[in-house]
Amino acid sequence: MNYYSEKIDRLIEQLGGLPGIGNKSAQRLAFHILNMPKERVRALTDTITDARENVRYCKECFTLTDKEICPICSNPGRDKTTIMVVETTRDLAAYEKTGKYNGVYHVLQGAISPMLGIGPADIRLKELMTRLQGDVKEVIIATNSSLEGEATAMYISKLIKPAGIKVTRIASGIPVGGDLEYIDEVTLLRALEGRKAL
Ligand code: ZN
Repeated sequence: MNYYSEKIDRLIEQLGGLPGIGNKSAQRLAFHILNMPKERVRALTDTITDARENVRYCKECFTLTDKEICPICSNPGRDKTTIMVVETTRDLAAYEKTGKYNGVYHVLQGAISPMLGIGPADIRLKELMTRLQGDVKEVIIATNSSLEGEATAMYISKLIKPAGIKVTRIASGIPVGGDLEYIDEVTLLRALEGRKAL
């Protein structure tokens, strides 16, 4: 059944393909966009295109950035001998918001998930191992406490331990299945301070 014109239907379909946007939200967004001044729509689409075309992975930590080396990795004040391993750039941002972590990060861009067919080679693990050949004193594993996050933590610790580098895991004050980005800063700090050797 076609209530709308084809162009409107296509817009709703495209918006509905975004995460967390159901059909109702997609319709609401579509009509909102159609009522926006044309310049504002152009500014929005330009911003999306520009971000997509110019954002890439940092050559050192693999976070999303618009520079070759991200601001954290290129900051001489950060302690490069401590690397915190997180799953996503959003998790990195959550820890940065606490303002209390002075080391650097390694962003895996995912987690190991046999169920989804994501193996160790599908995340930025090889790149982490390469970094560990430099002067690294501690690797803090801060993957989520989901099944995938825990599996990834175990895998990494087994991989790193033979290298004689200290490996720690953030404390489990974080609810099981908890997504790091939704957890408040105090809880995150407590988890970081209470980290345990693996
Ligand atoms: Zn970086």
